[in-house]
Amino acid sequence: MKREGQITVDSENLFPIIKKWLYSDKDIFIREIVANACDAIKKYRSLCQIGEAEDNGTAPRIDITLDAKAQTITVTDNGIGMTEEEVEKYIAQIAFSGAQEFLDKYKEQTDAENGIIGHFGLGFYSAYMVSENVEIETLSYQKDATPVHWESNGSHTYEIADGNRTEIGTSIIMHISEDGKEFLSEFKMREILRKYCHFMPYEIYFHVVKEASDDNKTDTPAAPEKPLNNISPLWLKAPKDCTTEEYEDFYRETFTDMNLPLFWIHLNVDYPFRLKGILYFPKQTDKLQVMPGEIKLFANQVYIADNIKEVVPEFLMLLKGVIDCPDLPLNVSRSFLQNDGEVAKISRHITKKVADKLLSVFNSERKSYEGYWDDISPFIKFGCIKDEKFYDKIKGIILYKTIDGEYKTFDELKKADNKVYYVSSTDIQGQYIKIFKDNGLEAVILEHNIDAHFVTFMEYKESGTKFVRIDSEIGDALKTDTDADTTANNDELIQFFKDALGMDKLTIQAENLKTADTPAILTINEYERRMSDISKIYGNMFGEAGPASETLIINSANSIVQKLKDFEPEKRNLLCRHIFDLAVMSQRKLTAAEMEGFIARSVQVMSLC
Ligand code: ADP
Repeated sequence: MKREGQITVDSENLFPIIKKWLYSDKDIFIREIVANACDAIKKYRSLCQIGEAEDNGTAPRIDITLDAKAQTITVTDNGIGMTEEEVEKYIAQIAFSGAQEFLDKYKEQTDAENGIIGHFGLGFYSAYMVSENVEIETLSYQKDATPVHWESNGSHTYEIADGNRTEIGTSIIMHISEDGKEFLSEFKMREILRKYCHFMPYEIYFHVVKEASDDNKTDTPAAPEKPLNNISPLWLKAPKDCTTEEYEDFYRETFTDMNLPLFWIHLNVDYPFRLKGILYFPKQTDKLQVMPGEIKLFANQVYIADNIKEVVPEFLMLLKGVIDCPDLPLNVSRSFLQNDGEVAKISRHITKKVADKLLSVFNSERKSYEGYWDDISPFIKFGCIKDEKFYDKIKGIILYKTIDGEYKTFDELKKADNKVYYVSSTDIQGQYIKIFKDNGLEAVILEHNIDAHFVTFMEYKESGTKFVRIDSEIGDALKTDTDADTTANNDELIQFFKDALGMDKLTIQAENLKTADTPAILTINEYERRMSDISKIYGNMFGEAGPASETLIINSANSIVQKLKDFEPEKRNLLCRHIFDLAVMSQRKLTAAEMEGFIARSVQVMSLC
């Protein structure tokens, strides 16, 4: 007998409005419907365990059938099922009144937020984002229950009647609407099933109904059926029982990354909140840029979202990993998460675990840690800049790679006058590196994009320390003391270059350098260069910072420089220009016009021989 009912919602226009609200996130309908199926199975299994229900001996499973011709997607479970009263209560009353509450609360607002559905018990309702009509066929586990058929096109009314189901469980048959047409594609369905259901706790089988012309209507593969999900993901296993191979396989399976991860952290917390997960440190494929990571968040193996920054600190997004947090109200809106103290605790806990892991790798296997350093340093530096507590924990294990290829902590660096010399490009600053090496001086390599910020950050944290780019000054350690004679000589040299170059803005100095090979070098003011770099990063938003001032340092220890006074003025000018060009070239690329001049002068210089 068919019975009709009224859905307990007042607004005539409820469904179109909610549909519009949720439009952007349509594909989560599959998560909501399949998660309900998992819940139903779980409830039935629990009842069987405590003897409240009789186990019918079937293995728990969910079947999803796509029938493009009939335009239906059906999700069938062998869970607890529902009686007619339960369908009335849970589907018609609760699910739909959740929709009403949603509307009352949010009708004034204009932009929808992700994940609002679960919060309002709208899970079942989400089927209407893609369906014009939804049927339920269900049979409760209860003794002598009769099967129920329920149907509604998402308007105010529904029909409920006796159904045909003979096995305990529920089928949700979604008649796909124009809005949901894309989900009738097998490819699309496989994609969203992989995204949302890949680690759900009961086996899920996907079937595609073949075209009517085929003899055999349902696509039953000859090989034994394989579920499309992994019901026991590695994060649930006790860390002590997991092998390296398992961690690596899980990484490949989840992130489709061909490179193996460097190392990982298995999170397993029971108190004060439950949290399990695995965070991987990926190998960096770009030496200069920070590569984005991927942190997938789950609640009881149900995928919620990627990279939720309220739960996982932003800098950890450079890692790849999975986090399963059953206690979190993850279906609720983002703004709720932001203000939730528990969520902040979780975020702090994850950061602490990451710091602990890094410290333990450093303390127990320093050599391996040094091997990882180039890959993990952008992540660590980003973390330090973003979160000072993280910096405080791990500051002792930030490494600096020296020009001699050693890895040293900040305390281990040799610092004269509290200065740390650094190289920002081993290609361009090769000449300066050679001078440093010849004199046994130390400089560290800070070539990554993040280092420009990191250097400023370190100067702020380690006040008194200055980071000085290798080409920005000549330290005392590179010079020999000068006597009165050399000073007079140097004044003459400076005049030679002033006359030859005619560049008023250029500061010219002469020094007796320990390295005799190089006739002259150019240094750039560190502070001004940083200002100019920063101004470029921001597109000269605050007006263009002028070029950093340069100083030409003539090396009075160099034999060509010493001979300059012996040349007639014309030739001397030519040599001075040439020495200047060479100094510029070891600092930066010449412009086209400079290069032209340089080549012409080179020919003239050769004619001197
Ligand atoms: P929520 O899952 O947040 O409670 P839903 O709208 O998704 O909200 O579902 C409402 C209720 O309908 C569920 O709590 C459950 O009692 C019932 N229900 C939904 N799907 C099923 C199913 N496949 N089997 C049994 N009961 C179900």
